[in-house]
Amino acid sequence: MRVACIVPVAVLAAGIKAQATGGAVFEPQGFNVTAALESLGVDVSALPEVEPETPGLSGRSSYAPCPLACSSLTYLFGSDNVLYEGSAVYDAFTASYWAAQQGALSPSCVFKPKTTAEVSILVLIARFYQCPFAVRGGGHAAWAGASNIEDGITVSMENFKQVKVSADLQTVDVGPGLRWVDVFTEVEKSGLSVVGGRMAPVGVPGLILGGGISHFSNKRGWACDNVASFQLVTASGIAINVSPTSYADLYWALRGGGNNFGIVTKFKLVAFPLGQMWGGQRIYTEDKFPAILDALHHFTVEGSATDLDAAQIATFATFPGVGKVSFGNLHYAKPIANAPVFDLWANIAAIQDTTGFRTMSGMANLLNEGAPAPGAYETWWGISLKMDRELLTFVIDTFFAQEATVANVEKILLIMAIQPVTTGALNAMQKNGGNALGLNPANGPYFIVNFNAAWNVAADGPQFHQVINNIIRLVKAEAQRRNFDNDFVYMNYGSEYQDPIGSYGAANKLKLQNISKKYDPTQLFQYLHTAGYKLVKGAPNPGPP
Ligand SMILES: Cc1cc2nc3c(=O)[nH]c(=O)nc-3n(C[C@H](O)[C@H](O)[C@H](O)COP(=O)(O)OP(=O)(O)OC[C@H]3O[C@@H](n4cnc5c(N)ncnc54)[C@H](O)[C@@H]3O)c2cc1C
Repeated sequence: MRVACIVPVAVLAAGIKAQATGGAVFEPQGFNVTAALESLGVDVSALPEVEPETPGLSGRSSYAPCPLACSSLTYLFGSDNVLYEGSAVYDAFTASYWAAQQGALSPSCVFKPKTTAEVSILVLIARFYQCPFAVRGGGHAAWAGASNIEDGITVSMENFKQVKVSADLQTVDVGPGLRWVDVFTEVEKSGLSVVGGRMAPVGVPGLILGGGISHFSNKRGWACDNVASFQLVTASGIAINVSPTSYADLYWALRGGGNNFGIVTKFKLVAFPLGQMWGGQRIYTEDKFPAILDALHHFTVEGSATDLDAAQIATFATFPGVGKVSFGNLHYAKPIANAPVFDLWANIAAIQDTTGFRTMSGMANLLNEGAPAPGAYETWWGISLKMDRELLTFVIDTFFAQEATVANVEKILLIMAIQPVTTGALNAMQKNGGNALGLNPANGPYFIVNFNAAWNVAADGPQFHQVINNIIRLVKAEAQRRNFDNDFVYMNYGSEYQDPIGSYGAANKLKLQNISKKYDPTQLFQYLHTAGYKLVKGAPNPGPP
């Protein structure tokens, strides 16, 4: 690395702060990016000069800043850490996105920082050249531009793979380059678990920063509610520790505010003891749907409060040769089979049953079996509603009526999942000052309906977008008629046509925008870091699908 010295993060933060602020304002007017780079050991005079229209390394003469920024990163960090179009490693990187739409984008280069200091330099280099960039964790967000970029720099956090359990077993430091199964597998060696994703390959950072629904949420809230602290590189390249007692406003904002405030280089997660748990999936035929909805409704409004260790989800789909089916996902954070909280499920005969005792990593691997491989065309959509038994029936009837209209379109899957947001989860979200999601326990409990379609032929995309959009339109209209509608759109299930941050409520959106302006006065993470849902706009694609 051609940086004069590798500066420890704390010293680095102090150094930039000293040159930048000297006082209470986080980043004063006239912040000197060149001086900030030099304080990190970068010899700015050795970098390619900013000359608009200079052809860059990738030969894109029409857009000069990014080739210059990329060649600077190559100069500073070596060609192993900066990938360019036309190389096998670049192709492997874009092919590794979960959704084909994301992998189809071609960044000017892919940068793979290894340390927080390198992330700080990346932010300042992007700012110096005014080159747009995107940050990618596990790459599971499903719409084009959620965590990749056409031209610009894609920053892959894949080298941040630290898992370090604290000596007192209360917390675990987790890197944003990890998949959830790796986190669970490692912490299980210490007899612990954390509130995280339910399917093995999903990435850590996106799931936490958007919320993070887990099997443990009824008791502990979402993943974002169980972060003791975040290490965050801000727009000035400063790395700060964000916790309930340090930058408390940012701590609130990072719990659901997505990638709008900086690049997270470490999550300190709250850990809890867990050995084996019980759970798995049961598959049911159509005649069992009323009983499944009864069980789900009862759990959401009553059962979940009697036993906070339980989680229940039901997913619906049609499979060729089988017909309409439902998958019941039942999980319990204790090694006890069929605890009383699952009594209503006991009398529903399943055609297949994988429930049993496993660790959380075992559960995450099991749930991932049969999931589409990365690289298919994907779309995810989500809405939330207040729980009502009759509305549940309307939701599944509408889903099956509408999905029949695309029965002849070749697909990998088209599914709809119903996930309770229980009073227990809503209460647990309030700890440490609450989160930004705007879900009020007094108005709950809610349920999230999320849709996922996966297909192989690019041209079929509009049909899947339209059918899901139709279902949502019909369901929302019925929910409004019955007074059970709810605005909240879960960011991690959102499509490009939805506006999760707007759904948090006007007051929360304004609060997020004000926090953003306080720590990022030039709005770098709004206008230069273009990926994902932004505070300054609504749905990334405002047009109808
Ligand atoms: C198969 C599957 C299973 C899922 N299961 C669950 C589940 O159990 N619970 C749940 O809540 N959700 C679940 N999801 C949704 C999941 O939470 C989102 O897809 C999430 O975005 C994945 O995070 P990622 O890091 O893999 O995504 P990425 O696409 O890499 O990133 C998503 C967003 O996070 C931002 N980001 C990434 N890294 C950083 C960083 N270090 N700093 C700042 N911003 C960053 C990106 O810019 C992007 O906007 C699932 C999705 C899939 C496809």
